[in-house]
Amino acid sequence: MPSRTWLPEGASAVACLTFDVDAETGILSVNAKAADHAMAISHQQFGPEIGVPRILDILANLHVRATFFFPGWVAERRPALVERIAEAGHEIGHHSYSHVPASSMTREEEEGDFVRALKVFEEIGVPIHGHRAGLWEASWSTPAIVAEHGLSYDSSLMTQDSPYRITTPHGSIIELPPHWSLDDWEQYAFLPFPEIGQHIKNPSDVLDMWIGEVDAMRRYGGLFMLTNHPFLTGRPSRAVALEQLIGHILDAGDVPILTGHELATHLAEVALPQRAHDKPEIEEGLFPAP
Ligand code: ZN
Repeated sequence: MPSRTWLPEGASAVACLTFDVDAETGILSVNAKAADHAMAISHQQFGPEIGVPRILDILANLHVRATFFFPGWVAERRPALVERIAEAGHEIGHHSYSHVPASSMTREEEEGDFVRALKVFEEIGVPIHGHRAGLWEASWSTPAIVAEHGLSYDSSLMTQDSPYRITTPHGSIIELPPHWSLDDWEQYAFLPFPEIGQHIKNPSDVLDMWIGEVDAMRRYGGLFMLTNHPFLTGRPSRAVALEQLIGHILDAGDVPILTGHELATHLAEVALPQRAHDKPEIEEGLFPAP
């Protein structure tokens, strides 16, 4: 079982509030034909237009800081929004350029997409410390690319429910693991086309589940890595549930809310479990290859 020694003093768990501002790329990365569907595009535009400002208000009222992961494609089209978030004290994270799953790319394609996003953030003038793969679909090359370009952490992989270190030929990075159970996509994502999900769950039930996870994380000394999307959680009753969730975390008193960068900075001097990132060798013919 992972030790609790990674926790800041007095903490029983740590919470990171992360918002992936996928906007149009959330559906374009599934199917380029989504661009022909005005309703679907407008559904995604709600995220940066209405969802992000609403979430920023909630965070400001509760005096907590978060990490906003941007695909470079989205940041390039909305630099003022990126600046506004950064000026409010939040972290901007790297969420690929196109949001196309890295697992579907060659290493060269992935690195090209990665660097293209880095250039966008550099042009806007925001520092980048962390990366999250589009759809969490990191490849077997992703940690090495993240390390090679000088970022300190990734948040896409799930071997533990507390931070760990991934070693790569370009040095090590810290992994801040997310999980599907703490993602609003599996609760709220619904569109007839393209197929992104068929979920419109009751925010009260989602709040109940996430509060249960906060409390269980305190028992196990885990990382409560919340992954929300402004086009989903920005809707009214979901935003209110988010506010109540953050209130619960704050009331607990022993679950500091940190940005990914703040947590990675704390962990830089901490002994963590180390793992390599190697594709398992598969014996030919043993498993089906449809
Ligand atoms: Zn995303």
